Amino acid sequence: MSGRGVLVTGASRGIGRAVAAAFAGEGDRVAIHHRDSAEQARQLLGELPGQGHTVVQADLAHPDEVRRMADTAAETLGGIDVLVNNAGIFLHHPITELSYEEWQAAWRRTLDVNLVGAANVTWCALQHMPAGGRIVNVSSRGAFRGEPDGPAYGAAKAGLNAFGQSLAIALAPRGIAVATVAPGFVATDMTNEHLKPPRGDEIRAQSPFGRVAEPEEIAAAVVYLASPAAEWASGAVLDLNGASYLR
Ligand code: NAD
Repeated sequence: MSGRGVLVTGASRGIGRAVAAAFAGEGDRVAIHHRDSAEQARQLLGELPGQGHTVVQADLAHPDEVRRMADTAAETLGGIDVLVNNAGIFLHHPITELSYEEWQAAWRRTLDVNLVGAANVTWCALQHMPAGGRIVNVSSRGAFRGEPDGPAYGAAKAGLNAFGQSLAIALAPRGIAVATVAPGFVATDMTNEHLKPPRGDEIRAQSPFGRVAEPEEIAAAVVYLASPAAEWASGAVLDLNGASYLR
């Protein structure tokens, strides 16, 4: 088998889809993980260059599903050399507008998927990861800046940054590097609504480039951080914001 085995969570669309395509373009074999988008995942499978790719399914909020998914990916790929923890959700949950029950549900779901889900995928993938392995977490600008409409999202992403840094220390003796990307706004389904005028115009104006990122621009950084050359980037949190927030 040629190339490395790469598991990308949330790969049926958006940033994850671009990441899967970028690794396949490098000659790697990709496990396209999805939650409930079998059709999109199979379509991507048909479009990826190269051979040996596969589709795996799990709701990351369910630990048993996660373990089965990671084991299946490892079996098909012949191990997991690279894990990209990309899947995530943004729930609109401003503290001043929700009941106590709604508030709790938003926190639980957000942390279960964005933080605990990623931690569980990582534990399971590690069982199949050889020396030289790479883990890349997809965090967010929300880890550093206020998210008034989604405080649990920002907290989960800040937690993901800390998780990545802890793992970078813990896994270095095994020759595994762990790094994080923290993008600002990227044009995907997650941000469709945010990017409509007038709010979208304000968001685009935050960058001196006058636009938001395309998923492929985030994927390129993920591929670098997962490369054999990037061992020294272990523990890094790469701020990908097109010079936004510098003024
Ligand atoms: P997206 O909504 O297009 O994709 C998210 C993916 O995660 C989907 O494939 C979805 O099915 C999957 N997912 C969601 N909940 C899941 C669950 N319970 N179990 C399994 N999979 C689940 O969004 P995107 O913009 O491509 O986001 C990808 C990652 O990038 C996310 O972690 C997001 O927080 C992060 N991010 C996005 C932006 C942005 O502006 N779009 C900015 C910074 C960070």
